[in-house]
Amino acid sequence: MAHVVSLEHGSMPLMKICIHRGAKEIGGSCVQVEAGGESILIDAGMPLTSDSESPPIPPIVDGSSLRGIVISHPHQDHYGLLPWMPTTPVLMGDAARRILRAAAPFMRQPSLNLDGPSLVDRKTVSLGSFRITLYLVDHSAYDSYALLIEADGKRLFYSGDIRVHGRKRELVDRLMATPPASLDVLLLEGTTLGRACNVAPKPEDAIEDELAEIFRETTGIALIHASAQNIDRLVSIFRACLKTHRTLVVDLYTAEILAATGNPHIPQSDWNRIALCVPQRQRLQIKKAGLFEALERHSRHRIFPKTIAKNPGGYALIFRELWMRDLERANCLDGACLIHSQWDGYLKEDRLLKIDAWRKTNGMPFHQVHTSGHASPGDLKRLVTALNPKMLVPIHSDVPERYSELYPYVTAHADGEWWEI
Ligand SMILES: [Zn+2]
Repeated sequence: MAHVVSLEHGSMPLMKICIHRGAKEIGGSCVQVEAGGESILIDAGMPLTSDSESPPIPPIVDGSSLRGIVISHPHQDHYGLLPWMPTTPVLMGDAARRILRAAAPFMRQPSLNLDGPSLVDRKTVSLGSFRITLYLVDHSAYDSYALLIEADGKRLFYSGDIRVHGRKRELVDRLMATPPASLDVLLLEGTTLGRACNVAPKPEDAIEDELAEIFRETTGIALIHASAQNIDRLVSIFRACLKTHRTLVVDLYTAEILAATGNPHIPQSDWNRIALCVPQRQRLQIKKAGLFEALERHSRHRIFPKTIAKNPGGYALIFRELWMRDLERANCLDGACLIHSQWDGYLKEDRLLKIDAWRKTNGMPFHQVHTSGHASPGDLKRLVTALNPKMLVPIHSDVPERYSELYPYVTAHADGEWWEI
């Protein structure tokens, strides 16, 4: 249960805001907004540094006044604390909800309450005295939103996680072209501000070309270590496969995530040039969780590792650690390469070091092909200029002091501090 403390209300109608977590770190975002004796939470994220057994729970103020939790997008550092939150409606995109439900049987995490109203692009939902208008944005998670929150005549805009160089960049261009007016506060993510990168961000289309180039020069199977929930990236990988006449191999988890998008334009397990292959460890998960119907549904183009071994150069595979044993045993690795298609910071983690040792043992070349899920400093500056808030407040950044490079009117607030607009 969340710890509950009381909050005094003044006589003037005011919006009160507290960043419970995220004022000076990337991940674990959780913001409470209070107006007229009611409150909402924006995101309930698991800090990136926590273990999920005993995470730090933010002290939710007056849980009985809580009208709901808005989850901006389905990344763990934005929804991972839901199991420890008070029971209340959870507002999120329908596809985001389906993706989390599809992923659950494959994850070791407590069950999530995800019941509540749906977020729809450019629609407004009412929650107690709050009006929340949703803006679908470009990010590495599917179905991600920025939020305009209105109450008592005050207007707060929350960027969520956002970028302007992925496959949905037009959405953010549109937001900048027709921004909501008269914003009192903009809570803006600044993930990239602390990372030395002054060059223009690489667009997702360029990833597709780089992958195709590597696929062409690789004689064996191309193993791509990418998140199955980065749908933009899966599209890039699939398109690179089409260009180089490879078949994309996905496991049941990836097939289920692709289906959960509900989008007929996103690659699916029954499309030509896509095949399902189930590693041994996942077969055990399927048995344990009773996922036989899902397996049946995605088995139209099912293959086995021994099929890959006959012509490894004809395949690219969405790779995770659980594949290592199966691929090695079936002799699929002649001429193979490993492509790390995630943030390079993960390369220092134990699980990645283990994969790297395995890659070296098998004589596989290594490639890094990635672009960030977060806006570059230049794009953040364009965004804040377009939104033109009275005040910019840092969140989801480890360098809040650098926000003054983006905009003249910055006020940083500490975690746990209540402030008014
Ligand atoms: Zn995110």
